[in-house]
Amino acid sequence: MPKKTLIIGAGGVGNVVAFKCAMNAKTFGDITLASRTVSKCNAIAKNVLEKTGVSLATMRVDADSVAELVEVIEQVQANIVINVALPYQDLTIMDACTQCGVDYLDTANYEHPDTAKFEYKEQWARDAQFKEANIMGLLGSGFDPGVTNVFCAYAQKHYFDEIHTIDILDCNAGDHGYPFATNFNPEINLREVSAKGRYWENGDWIETEPMAIKQVWDYPEVGAKDSYLLYHEEMESLVKHIKGLKRIRFFMTFGESYLTHMKCLENVGMLGIKEVEHKGMKIVPMEFLATLLPDPASLGPRTKGKTNIGIFAKGMKDGVEKTIYIYQVSDHEKCYQEVMSQGVSYTTGVPAMIGAKLMLEGKWQGKGVFNMEEFDPDPFMEELMVQGLPWKVMELGADESREVK
Ligand code: NDP
Repeated sequence: MPKKTLIIGAGGVGNVVAFKCAMNAKTFGDITLASRTVSKCNAIAKNVLEKTGVSLATMRVDADSVAELVEVIEQVQANIVINVALPYQDLTIMDACTQCGVDYLDTANYEHPDTAKFEYKEQWARDAQFKEANIMGLLGSGFDPGVTNVFCAYAQKHYFDEIHTIDILDCNAGDHGYPFATNFNPEINLREVSAKGRYWENGDWIETEPMAIKQVWDYPEVGAKDSYLLYHEEMESLVKHIKGLKRIRFFMTFGESYLTHMKCLENVGMLGIKEVEHKGMKIVPMEFLATLLPDPASLGPRTKGKTNIGIFAKGMKDGVEKTIYIYQVSDHEKCYQEVMSQGVSYTTGVPAMIGAKLMLEGKWQGKGVFNMEEFDPDPFMEELMVQGLPWKVMELGADESREVK
């Protein structure tokens, strides 16, 4: 019996997942793409059919409604649900999967629409219900979180007895030609970037003002870029699972134009997430801004340049200090040529497909709710090499770094 795969969400990432599942149709079997706006699913299905010859079914679903989700999952008779809608839908989709007894995967942790805060608490709290339903939930199977967690697990397995410090370094050097646009959902992106920074050291979380810590990092194949410390969700699980860790931080690159626009929008209140009254109507400034900004899915054909995301880890092996850098470089234009999406959607969608593939093939198995670094990294790393995200390991001298002083 062929497997049945249900993908929820037809944005930039949903497009890549649909393409990549179709390219691995032997594993994914009958594929259905469901989302709030069915016309977007149909447009993706048309492109997938033209480029790969694989036919996808499409459906409408409001993923805020557990009842609607249950109906769709039952109708599809899904073996797995790949959630690439928005983080706001994580809990409803997880609850629907529990009711139907179906495995679950997502790429971003739950956020409440009214609070700009993300954490794993509510998803981890569903571990018992997943175990009881005899199903598996894989959380954060995108690039970061996702591949970055797997890179850490790989470093721990093959290079270190103990990792002491990890810096996750995320560079998008793509240029879409607009003065200001976000590479994935604007609301989620701007909420993440305008929040306070936070990193973990010796057991404590240390909070910083937004963008207060900067370093210039020399990214292989890209060059030196200003990189700012942000809080990022994979750190919450990595501090639990990486042995001997003393410090973990996350840095992301931003250009000057992006930061100036963001500061200005913030100063005038356009990043607000509370309703305001406008001419007798209630509007949420951030939602209105998202309406004005270019649709991230439309950036694909115009984005040029590369992404480079990796981890820089220091620790001990056989009593000797060791430093490694594991990274992956993608080219926006090549991504677009392959699946009609730019690099940020591509680098998220491919790992989502790989996580689901390993689950369907039984290579990553378990009952309950898991983060990526809890599984053997090797099969995932092998898939990255052949599914479009080849990576490299650079071994450095113990005191070497790529920070430009
Ligand atoms: P988009 O905004 O492009 O797409 C989101 C899709 O979800 C849209 O098709 C949207 O429908 C659909 N959707 C939203 N609400 C509902 C709902 N209630 N019911 C059904 N469908 C709904 O986002 P992206 O594709 O850029 O991002 C998708 C996910 O990937 C997000 O969770 C994001 O945080 C995550 N991500 C993870 C990364 C990682 O590395 N881990 C990096 C980048 C993104 P409609 O078309 O009607 O608006």
